[in-house]
Amino acid sequence: MKHLFCLLANTLAALSAVMMLSLAGCAVNPVTGKREMMFDSPAQDIATGTQNYLPSQQSQGGQYVVDQGLTAYVNKVGKKLAAVSDAPDLPYEFVVLNNDTPNAWAMPGGKLAINRGLLVQLEDEAQLAAVLGHEIVHAAARHGASAKAQQVLVGAGVVLAGVAISTKKPEYAVLSVGALGVGANAWNSKYSRDHESISDKYGIKYMVKAGYDPQAAVELQELFVRMFEKQDPGWLQGLFASHPPSRDRVAANRAELTQYPKGGARNKAAFEHAIAQIKEDKAAYKNYEDSMKAAKDKQYDKAMSLVDSAIAQQPKENLFWEMKGKLLLQQDKNQESIPALDKAIQANPAYFSPYIYRGMAYKELGNSNLAEHDLIASQRLLPTQMASEQLGDIALAKGNRSAAAAYYQQVIEGGGESGERAKAKLAQIQQ
Ligand SMILES: [Zn+2]
Repeated sequence: MKHLFCLLANTLAALSAVMMLSLAGCAVNPVTGKREMMFDSPAQDIATGTQNYLPSQQSQGGQYVVDQGLTAYVNKVGKKLAAVSDAPDLPYEFVVLNNDTPNAWAMPGGKLAINRGLLVQLEDEAQLAAVLGHEIVHAAARHGASAKAQQVLVGAGVVLAGVAISTKKPEYAVLSVGALGVGANAWNSKYSRDHESISDKYGIKYMVKAGYDPQAAVELQELFVRMFEKQDPGWLQGLFASHPPSRDRVAANRAELTQYPKGGARNKAAFEHAIAQIKEDKAAYKNYEDSMKAAKDKQYDKAMSLVDSAIAQQPKENLFWEMKGKLLLQQDKNQESIPALDKAIQANPAYFSPYIYRGMAYKELGNSNLAEHDLIASQRLLPTQMASEQLGDIALAKGNRSAAAAYYQQVIEGGGESGERAKAKLAQIQQ
């Protein structure tokens, strides 16, 4: 169907230059060599990835910073695979996200991410190579551009390559921050079944070319099927939303292996060394998760004691300090929340949310200059409804009605409960 459309477009294009402009949208897939509908150029792919990469990371826990060696290791494995891919010249980047959900994704232009929560489930470097190889194919084969073209063809309108603004609260937040704008969501481009099987197939090819044992790709799909059958909610939200596992995929991967010689590198020792810290910190992250659950149930004392245990176990984890700061803030212990939030920011200055909470604490304490400073710092990392609303309140208190109105307008555009609240505030200004 796609192919036919391309042929038709080519024929019409030959007839009319004007028509050629309107139908320009066929490109040769760099991985499969087939002609496909794509409206975006490779340069646009790279721009889309570059524009959305940081906000997507921010909205999913930010980068994991406790052990920088882990990110270096994932990059080394990823770059090795990318170098033997069909698009070795993309500006590839690989990050480890500080997120418990087992997930991995690839943006157009070669911007990839893998969550801490997926890494702990894997057994060796070959399995990591299976995850990264699969994701590299999505980028190399330009599946984002192709999915976008299909959406256009079925009349879904031009969605910016699948990026939508999530109204879901991030699972790690006690208070909803409501990210605004493009790129704030998980990269959930719904790849088709075709894209998935192409990624499986060529991912295996890249693994073999890089020297890895492709059997790990079968094991990975088996792991996914096992987790899917357990209906683990973390897995359902994460990887399976975009990569539905099935016994068919296991079988297809197994069949794919028959064309390659058996064996290859597993690098189990190197992998175990690389993930040693996150394995060691498993109990700390469990305490942190339980602390969030307790806070949701309004059991704040229990939540505080759990997060204190997590901090004692791993004092370098910014999320633990942020949680402590948020809990203190929620109990109106504004002054006491500041040192905890300072620790969170020192541990990972490139993560947006502790700036919001510290800004709120300063605002409550009447220090509007420091509050503004922090809230603006957070907006630079990830624009959120929460920070815009706080900034609107501060501007209003300073008598700057037009600035306040502009901030409230941003909150309104984000919708939801805070959008409604901002509407009421804006209406009051305009009276
Ligand atoms: Zn996939």
